Amino acid sequence: MKEMMIMTPGPTYVHEEVRAAMGKPIINPDLDLQFYEFYYDLCGKLQKLLHTQNQVLVLNGEGILGLEAACASLIEPGDKVLCIDNGIFGNGFGDFAKIYGGQVTYFKADYRKGINKAELENFIQKNGPFKIATLVHCETPSGITNPIDKICPLLHDQGIISIVDAVSSMGGEAIHTDQWKVDILLGGSQKCLSAPPGLTILSVSERAWDKISKRKHSIVGFYTNLSSWKNWYEEKWFPYTQPVSDLYALDKAVERILEDKGIFQRHKNIAEAVRKSIIEVGLELYPKESFSNTVTAMMVPEETTFEEINKKMLEEHRIMIAGSLGDLNGKVMRIGHMGENCYEEKLYLTLKALDTVLKELNVPVKGYLHKHFQEVYNVQ
Ligand SMILES: *Cc1c(COP(=O)(O)O)cnc(C)c1O
Repeated sequence: MKEMMIMTPGPTYVHEEVRAAMGKPIINPDLDLQFYEFYYDLCGKLQKLLHTQNQVLVLNGEGILGLEAACASLIEPGDKVLCIDNGIFGNGFGDFAKIYGGQVTYFKADYRKGINKAELENFIQKNGPFKIATLVHCETPSGITNPIDKICPLLHDQGIISIVDAVSSMGGEAIHTDQWKVDILLGGSQKCLSAPPGLTILSVSERAWDKISKRKHSIVGFYTNLSSWKNWYEEKWFPYTQPVSDLYALDKAVERILEDKGIFQRHKNIAEAVRKSIIEVGLELYPKESFSNTVTAMMVPEETTFEEINKKMLEEHRIMIAGSLGDLNGKVMRIGHMGENCYEEKLYLTLKALDTVLKELNVPVKGYLHKHFQEVYNVQ
């Protein structure tokens, strides 16, 4: 049978060079000193990708581990935490902060727009001071990218340590970690980085390390304790045995991204062409502004349901797209165009199939989704 084309916002297609890297011989990562050099080198590549001098760590768990490790290591009981909430992941961050004793205040904003810096600044003046803020770069369930380039410098100036979930933007958007004063930036291997699921990447600023070192209460947990990683290279010691094959794959995936000079512009162009084609045929996007370049969220047309669309997409076209989560479940559907899925031909095929499916389900579609897409993409 034809291989399924997975056009979800993660996990994404893993290139054969990356899969081949997983087939390399397994060495002993604790005893083989060369492995420490390999790992050091991988962290250096990630620093380059994220434009940071901060220490970069790769932990052995999916993106949620990075998120939880940041909360566990930074937040002490009673710390005032600002949870910046304009989406499902943004809201959920508050729950993690509470697990570790944070006193959480929510800044609730419109779920169909990016965070407004002036409104946030006002809120902080009225409700602050805060020690830590949690926020999400790309809200994957709603297809919104928050302007962390404006928000994190504001937080920094207010003396607030930022923890940014960039799981679905890292590798698909240019991120200037140091220039934007992001204290903790965290990502996952399976989204725009297009490596197998299972790893989380964190960059940790000096300010964040300082907060960790001055804690009054010890960190609860071992796997989530970032401080045990601080001197791994100098001490030639990892807190636990490293998943060698997954790391080889991530290294190859990051190498491919660094070699692909047009990658961020391609994400922008593809995303814009996808959005324009959706609007052009008379369908509706979920976000009103601050559109993501890695995932597009659109309203499920009222003539049908996501279940019907999805069934046909899977069975008749072998293409997997995604619904959404929480309150958006059933109302919103999503196409991922991140990492190895961000190519013209893949989006053309996806939109062509979707065009056919929607028409079969009696959704009025003006013209052709895929043809509009191609027209816009080719004149950019
Ligand atoms: C995918 C994702 C995560 C990780 O969540 P899983 O559902 O466990 O993969 C975290 N944050 C964001 C913004 C994500 O898109």
